[in-house]
Amino acid sequence: MKTEFSLAQLADPDIAEADKILRACVHCGFCTATCPTYVLLGDELDSPRGRIYLIKEMLEKDRPPTQEVVKHIDRCLSCLACMTTCPSGVNYMHLVDQARVRIENEYTRPLTERALRAALAWVLPRPGLFRLSMILARLARPLTALLPAPKAASVSPTLSRRIKAMLALAPRSLPAPGPAGGSVFPAIGERRGRVALLQGCAQQVLAPRINQAAINLLTRHGIEVVLVKDEQCCGALTHHLGRDGDALARARANIAVWAAEAERGGLDAILVTTSGCGTVIKDYGFMLREDRDFASAAAKISALAKDITEYVSGIDLQPPQQHSDIVIAYHSACSLQHGQKITQLPKELLSKNGFVVKDVPESHLCCGSAGTYNILQPDIASRLRDRKVANIAMVKPDMIAAGNIGCMVQIAGGTSVPVVHTIELLDWATGGPRPGLN
Ligand code: SF4
Ligand code: SF4
Repeated sequence: MKTEFSLAQLADPDIAEADKILRACVHCGFCTATCPTYVLLGDELDSPRGRIYLIKEMLEKDRPPTQEVVKHIDRCLSCLACMTTCPSGVNYMHLVDQARVRIENEYTRPLTERALRAALAWVLPRPGLFRLSMILARLARPLTALLPAPKAASVSPTLSRRIKAMLALAPRSLPAPGPAGGSVFPAIGERRGRVALLQGCAQQVLAPRINQAAINLLTRHGIEVVLVKDEQCCGALTHHLGRDGDALARARANIAVWAAEAERGGLDAILVTTSGCGTVIKDYGFMLREDRDFASAAAKISALAKDITEYVSGIDLQPPQQHSDIVIAYHSACSLQHGQKITQLPKELLSKNGFVVKDVPESHLCCGSAGTYNILQPDIASRLRDRKVANIAMVKPDMIAAGNIGCMVQIAGGTSVPVVHTIELLDWATGGPRPGLN
């Protein structure tokens, strides 16, 4: 794609990056076929190619974002299916990230929407506040009947529709909190490795059992696990809301504490059980490339970050108990398959450890979770969830496995089939307890 940035514009490293990305696009349109919003809405401006044009126009003309640009960028799930499909290697992720920052900085949303976004950005990365908000949401859920009913499913949802969606996501009960930062879980037997395990923010409130399963499996196989003290939310949630100041501050804080831990006790890896977080931590090197004080450390941390399945695949796991009567539908989280290009590994691990693993039809399509998307765009998100659940039902599973808490909550909202994390199944297969729901 031909671009027309001025030399002055290209002096800005972000614009230079956008220029490189835009020039790689040959506007062939292959990406439209796998874009969930284009598949649902059929509007070119809700396709990757359409959004690329909108972003190009905004950046090149150095214009403030228009209402139309905001509408179509907001509808993008950042699922990155387009990046998997694109034959030209267009890095849509870095382009849309930049567009979201510009929208956040230069576009004035209606007051209620600003308030909602600010509340999400404040509460979600703070586990204590998030826990409290889940309790309050549960108590407030009966009041949703008092909120005005939307006239029809809408791609421009009202505040009350969003509040309803948010309250619907609150679980009936919350499990007890998991171990605190600063905890160390020594290897059982001879120590073969030492890793940090990301504590996460929403996940540690909703499902601490996931990291517990990881800790059980790793320590049983000779790996010491550290929950690094003073670690923060990885920044993914605010990054996807375009709040880069917050996201980068969190990235810097985490880099500092992880680097100090690596220096102190050595770290073979920083393990992540929520693939949405893993994708962003693996991108810290890029996000901080212009930061003289952090660029090099950020690149090192990104290189150390691994999805839990990547690390576990390098361990000789204990011989599995046989669960060949259990059929698992493997849901491939977008952040894992499109963001980190980890597609076969989790399925291979599950099969090797005794489960019958079934691929889900249309597995490239997002389930609609996408960070805060299922709150901010609840109607598109519900349609995607229903489609995902229907596709999963086709393989008649006993359990559904995924590697991302957001997908797990989203899918569980539409099915009675238990939804568990891949690591819980691997823990179970190698001597741990059968995964429950809490
Ligand atoms: S597939 Fe790639 S090159 Fe083709 S239009 Fe989409 S982003 Fe551009
Ligand atoms: S990230 Fe997903 S929703 Fe956004 S343009 Fe790409 S395929 Fe479509």
